[in-house]
Amino acid sequence: MAKKVLVLGELRDGSLRNVSFEAIAAGKKVAESGEVVAVLIGDSVKDSASEMIHYGADRAITVEDEQLKHYTSDGFSQAFMAVVNEENPDVIVFGHTSLGKDLSPKIASKLNTGLISDVTAIEEGNDGMVFTRPIYSGKAFENKVITDGITFFTIRPNNIEPMAKDESRSGEVTAVSAEIKDLRTIIKEVITKASEGVDLSEAKVIVAGGRGVKSAEGFEPLKELADVLGGAVGASRGACDADYCDYSLQIGQTGKVVTPDLYIACGISGAIQHMAGMSNSKVIVAINKDPEANIFNVADYGIVGDLFEVVPLLTEEFKKM
Ligand code: FAD
Repeated sequence: MAKKVLVLGELRDGSLRNVSFEAIAAGKKVAESGEVVAVLIGDSVKDSASEMIHYGADRAITVEDEQLKHYTSDGFSQAFMAVVNEENPDVIVFGHTSLGKDLSPKIASKLNTGLISDVTAIEEGNDGMVFTRPIYSGKAFENKVITDGITFFTIRPNNIEPMAKDESRSGEVTAVSAEIKDLRTIIKEVITKASEGVDLSEAKVIVAGGRGVKSAEGFEPLKELADVLGGAVGASRGACDADYCDYSLQIGQTGKVVTPDLYIACGISGAIQHMAGMSNSKVIVAINKDPEANIFNVADYGIVGDLFEVVPLLTEEFKKM
């Protein structure tokens, strides 16, 4: 049966995040020849609607209001529910991002429906679409099938391949007006830390440093390698606790969960709390001077050596490619 799918597009600093395009591809998988409708919420989002269509959405809906300039769960849930009430979707897809993790349970409770969070794969099964998600900090996977009501899920960034961008795709863009009221939080100003380069949660390559990096300066060779590979720098909690880098770089159980194509762990021992955040990376390379380090148990390639010798050599080699 053809299904109507609502996909929430997510913007950061005015640009659509890649996970929005992955969510469209996920929506296509479950639409069964139905339509995928992109939803964009903010104070000025019209310009991004056509990009969602270029990545495969059949049409787009915008909800614009000055009070939606910054994300708040109250404001965005009122805006999204206005679209739901007009469209009556069969399926809803969000990214499993900070925003998606905050907003999705609120919408699910308003719709009195279930929610499958952090989906990494979607396949057709005998009883309907099968949604796979990691459990027990990534040590096992469970498969879920929804048999009744709205199918609502969030997708983990970097797991579902987006469709190729095609600027010749066209589709209708309409506006839905929502009455945004009684906001309990009003964001007056956002002060951001200067972020360097690629967004960690969406990076295809991550070069991560641990306590073995020994100082803030010790991260410099890792940054150079990440730059050459077009990747981002991450860290263990050990490195963050030692003040070598900011906590926004922390990967693991109490940090970010990442699934890049390539994860290079430098001077990281491989504690289970760290591995909970990176063990599903597609290829893991570990550099550690201790041949017994636990990180080698999950690594596809292990280099036993001093990271301050190995990392610059890798950078030089990759520069030649
Ligand atoms: P260490 O364990 O000290 O390892 C440093 C490694 O560097 C060693 O293996 C050493 O051989 C190697 N090394 C040293 N010098 C060099 C060199 N020159 N060249 C190459 N290798 C070198 N941790 C996280 O990372 N993320 C989390 O989200 C997280 N959440 C936690 C939640 C809880 C509730 C708890 C209790 C802990 C959590 N931790 C988390 C901490 C975790 O248990 C570890 O303490 C931490 O991951 C260790 O960081 P590390 O591997 O950088 O340091």
